[in-house]
Amino acid sequence: MPDCIIVGGGVIGLLTARQLFLEGVDVLLLEKGPLGGESSWAGGGIISPLYPWRYDDAVNVLAERSKKIYPELTKTLFDETSVDCELLDSGLFTVVDNDQKIIDWTKKWSIDADFINNIDSIHKIEKTVGDVVNKGIWMPDIKQIRNPKFVKALKASFERLCIPYREYCEVEEIINKNNKVTGVRTDKKTFLADKIIVASGAWSAQFSVTQSSVNVIPVKGQMIMYKGEPDLVKRIVLSEGHYIIPRKDGRILAGSTLEKIGFDKTISVTAFDELHRAAVELIPLLSGLEIERQWAGLRPGTEKGIPYICQHDEVEGLYIHAGHFRNGIVLGTASAELMTDIVLGREPWCDVGPYSMSAPH
Ligand SMILES: Cc1cc2nc3c(=O)[nH]c(=O)nc-3n(C[C@H](O)[C@H](O)[C@H](O)COP(=O)(O)OP(=O)(O)OC[C@H]3O[C@@H](n4cnc5c(N)ncnc54)[C@H](O)[C@@H]3O)c2cc1C
Repeated sequence: MPDCIIVGGGVIGLLTARQLFLEGVDVLLLEKGPLGGESSWAGGGIISPLYPWRYDDAVNVLAERSKKIYPELTKTLFDETSVDCELLDSGLFTVVDNDQKIIDWTKKWSIDADFINNIDSIHKIEKTVGDVVNKGIWMPDIKQIRNPKFVKALKASFERLCIPYREYCEVEEIINKNNKVTGVRTDKKTFLADKIIVASGAWSAQFSVTQSSVNVIPVKGQMIMYKGEPDLVKRIVLSEGHYIIPRKDGRILAGSTLEKIGFDKTISVTAFDELHRAAVELIPLLSGLEIERQWAGLRPGTEKGIPYICQHDEVEGLYIHAGHFRNGIVLGTASAELMTDIVLGREPWCDVGPYSMSAPH
């Protein structure tokens, strides 16, 4: 019997289970599909929220801590598994007006950032941008990770460290006796444990268990991918919610849509057209490249993007770790540390109030 069952094997479940295991907890992770096959695979892997100044401190505090963890974590994973997560110092150029709110945010979080408003200086940062990019903020320290490689490395780490997990094992019910969890019933068998962590991404709301609610909804995001050459485009560029992410091997991602239409992962021509049009406007040379692939993922959406990282209000032994919305990769590592503190009952590394069930998410 494990001490703790983690329901869901996206980055949030994987990072949490790994961290608890490293701290000596007997864990078992259960995943209804392949590990990391949902949103965590589909995302862009920018290690920063988009327009972070628009977010609550509760999001920024996790993001800033995670940013510091990634270099060491990806190195450890590489040493353990030989999988390169392709953590790149791409930097992020965001088309935006110079604004006091943004300046205050850079000062508060000690972000290296420059407002630039002449095209020659912008071209020194990213020579491929089009005329629509004539002003904005350049943040050279923003990194990206190739999330399919990240989940591959995490899975390999589970194998290397012998962390127990089961794929294709769907949790159908969390067993709750007199407001205390005793285990989970899956489509295969029942597993007993005194602690259960719901890390089921967009599917987490089904595990509210009592009247208390976990307000997480699926928000579809579609992406397209161009086949380019290494270093053809070097920087992440963002304008009006559309972004370009150049990968190490020359592939270039353009994202993403925000669609609240339930558990639907179909791709659409409308999204393809929208993403391609915006991408070519930002980086005109993309019009000459082959589009290799289009896909969709379901983000675990919360209204303010503040995740649940907490013990359940009413049910002993039940924990919720979900709702990271557009930022599960950037928030994930710090979030897993916080969840570990909570589960182990030790002093948490930051104030847990904003992530509790009763707080606004
Ligand atoms: C297009 C797109 C672009 C994105 N770009 C970025 C970005 O640049 N930076 C960033 O930080 N974030 C980004 N994100 C968001 C990020 O991908 C998510 O926030 C993150 O992956 C959420 O991780 P998760 O583990 O909570 O969810 P998921 O990865 O969805 O994992 C949840 C897992 O739970 C499993 N599960 C569900 N129900 C059950 C059950 N009953 N039993 C067992 N298992 C179950 C699912 O199968 C799934 O594997 C993007 C997302 C999308 C879609």
